[in-house]
Amino acid sequence: MSVAFPMRMVPMEKMDIFCFLHVEDASALERILYTPADQCRRHHVGDEVHLRGLIEVSNHCARQCLYCGLRAPNTALPRYRMTREEILSSARQARELGYGTVVLQAGEDPGLTGPFVADVVSTIKALPGEVPLAVTLSLGERNDEDLRLWRQAGADRYLLRFETSNAELFHRIHPPLPGGPSDRIAQLRRMREMGYEIGSGTMIGVPGQTYADLVNDITLFAELEMEMIGVGPFLPHPHTPLGATQPQTAPARDGFEMQVPNSEEMTYKVIALTRLACPRANIPSTTALATLNQAQGRELGLQRGANVVMPNLTPPCYRAMYEIYPAKACLYEAPGQFHTDLLNRLAAIGRRPGQGQGSAAAPDTTTRR
Ligand code: SAH
Repeated sequence: MSVAFPMRMVPMEKMDIFCFLHVEDASALERILYTPADQCRRHHVGDEVHLRGLIEVSNHCARQCLYCGLRAPNTALPRYRMTREEILSSARQARELGYGTVVLQAGEDPGLTGPFVADVVSTIKALPGEVPLAVTLSLGERNDEDLRLWRQAGADRYLLRFETSNAELFHRIHPPLPGGPSDRIAQLRRMREMGYEIGSGTMIGVPGQTYADLVNDITLFAELEMEMIGVGPFLPHPHTPLGATQPQTAPARDGFEMQVPNSEEMTYKVIALTRLACPRANIPSTTALATLNQAQGRELGLQRGANVVMPNLTPPCYRAMYEIYPAKACLYEAPGQFHTDLLNRLAAIGRRPGQGQGSAAAPDTTTRR
């Protein structure tokens, strides 16, 4: 396709985003998308890369999502739930490594009860240190009572990807539990009311996702004014109904109805467009991306719009069991070694680790709230 976009254009219009997603020429992409996204990132959120220690607290899951290896019907997967002490020990490790935030993530696990999580959150908030750790929860769809309890216990942020803005596709790949259909966007809005900083995101290239869907995903991020936006490639898991889908490499050439490829390049395009559409958001360079390109994926994500990395602090004995998709990049990372390597990798691309909690940038300034 012809490339006629001026360099500093901010692609907020759906048709512009649609066209950017179809650009294939590497030097054009660099010039019209990746470089502007990198400049936009530097201008609005600076050169700091915020490090969030990820603790995968349980792989039990009540859901049957067609894409995810944690789905309840996957009986091949041994299940675990970390104890209070184990979670606190990982949080202390985050503190020792100088991280400002821990993210507690899990399958949708009713065994993680409201009071249990509230106790863990308030204990983490009380760990000794100059500034309390920010606590982000990513525990799936929960009722308002639990969400309020956790907020009162001190939880600062909640991550809940809406996975795709196409409601029909969402319900197909994320079947409802008895009791009614999911509405993740409504939960995100309610959590914002409760005072959480909210984060969401999508998978790129999940079977059935069209270019028009992906355009709508990106504009929805902006519409909902997300503080955090995580996007990563869909990676097929063999023990799921979508497991036979092979990663695609060639982007579709035209048409709203075409399947989006779950490719590395498409992921960079979406990261860059997300940065341009949501200049102040915190955007991670995800583990799924690092899984597609172990050598360079994390850095390239950071150079094309991202400003967050989420090092894995799950105890090694559990890590392989949090298998949302196979061969996760973090599987054999030892936290201390990974941290040293990460600091070197950041320095090599002219970036530095963030200080403090790394909250979303306040409007019209680069100072942190
Ligand atoms: N139970 C929580 C956390 C799920 S894991 C929740 O549902 O919000 C976090 C994210 O991993 C999911 O939101 C999904 O976007 C992503 N994920 C799950 N399976 C995946 C797969 N096969 N490939 C890529 N990403 C996947």
